Amino acid sequence: MSQNSRLVIKSGNVFDSIEGKLKENLTIVTKHNEIVWVGDEGSFEQEENDKVIDATGKTVFPGMIECHVHLSGTGTPLYEREYLRTKRDMWSYIALDNAQKHLASGFTCVRDAGCYKGVISSLKRIINEGVLAGPRLVGSETGIWQWGDSESIGPQALIDFEREVSVVKAGVDNIKYAVRDQKRLGADFIKTATTGGVLHGMESKVSMVLWTDEELVAIREEAHRLGMHVGCHAHGDDGIQAAVRAGIDTIEHGSFISEESAKMMVEKGTYLIPTRLAIACLASSNIHKQMPPEVQKKIMECYNGEKERHTMAFEKGVKIAIGTDAATPGNFHGCTGLEVKLMVDDYGMTPVQAMQAATIEGARAIWLDDKIGSIEKGKFADIVISDKNPLENIDVVTDPKNFSHVIKDGKVMVERGRITYFSPTKQIQLD
Ligand SMILES: [Zn+2]
Repeated sequence: MSQNSRLVIKSGNVFDSIEGKLKENLTIVTKHNEIVWVGDEGSFEQEENDKVIDATGKTVFPGMIECHVHLSGTGTPLYEREYLRTKRDMWSYIALDNAQKHLASGFTCVRDAGCYKGVISSLKRIINEGVLAGPRLVGSETGIWQWGDSESIGPQALIDFEREVSVVKAGVDNIKYAVRDQKRLGADFIKTATTGGVLHGMESKVSMVLWTDEELVAIREEAHRLGMHVGCHAHGDDGIQAAVRAGIDTIEHGSFISEESAKMMVEKGTYLIPTRLAIACLASSNIHKQMPPEVQKKIMECYNGEKERHTMAFEKGVKIAIGTDAATPGNFHGCTGLEVKLMVDDYGMTPVQAMQAATIEGARAIWLDDKIGSIEKGKFADIVISDKNPLENIDVVTDPKNFSHVIKDGKVMVERGRITYFSPTKQIQLD
């Protein structure tokens, strides 16, 4: 396809993610990386060099958005051993492979919520150059973590890793510095945590609140000033409330969300990224039995009743976006369609609502709704063409073989779950 030719997706049934409706027989024209025209088949004027994909009878929807992964991790239950056996430079190649798995499964935008310094921002530049197929990346670099988040027990390589990805600074000025440092490293958003984590050691309490209100407000203020949103890992309800009070944009996990927190989130417009698949994988008997005893206990504390708490939050009107936390044990990259399905199976969303969560709501959650999340003139041409209609049966999004084409930046990159975009003659031009 030459530089100036257009890619035309003809006569498909197009999902309008903003209105939540399927619109029949629309034609979409893309040029370079943008959608330049959407309209009725009758008023479409074909040009000589157009490359046309006939989408008659197919469902066409916006490229889906995965809002929480860790691209340098694989999802093996033996994650501690993984740290011991992986050379540092291997993380970048692992991240590329995982990014491509997401693209291959119809997710054209992926937000990484914590990685080694430089991995995501570097990979993003290579993908944006068109050298390699990959999703649009939104990265947090390492994130900003506070003392008390993890105890220092484990393989030395894991402790070193956790030290490297931590910016352990107390007080407002240090926090402002840490936010600027993340920006300078190449972060697109700031990731932090108000509570401990499920997989961390015994002293990492999911009920503990790690930052003061003043510090959290400083993170949000400085991030917003620099054009970045803030995502906050929070399991316990006190941690959720502290983040919401401080005006943080997305709550990641939200395991113990209460009615009061849900009300606060609705008032503030805070998004919940429930990462249901992560806890469901951890609680599955095969994975659960491989975890250390204190982690097993925390898994079940979070898992029990979470479905009901998240359903309550959804019913109260909390906005939800899709994220799997892929790389946690048993939770492999490229399976985000399962999270979309869980929105229907576990939280009672309609397939339309689940597809909105996977598209426009994800875009809004990560401040990219002027560019992606819907099929509209002027937005990036990130589009999936599916033989079957996920609005009739949400299982469709769990099998990428249903997708005849995954288009990103106006280029067909994936067909039937396989990467088909290669650019052997492309020169890297880093400007
Ligand atoms: Zn995570």
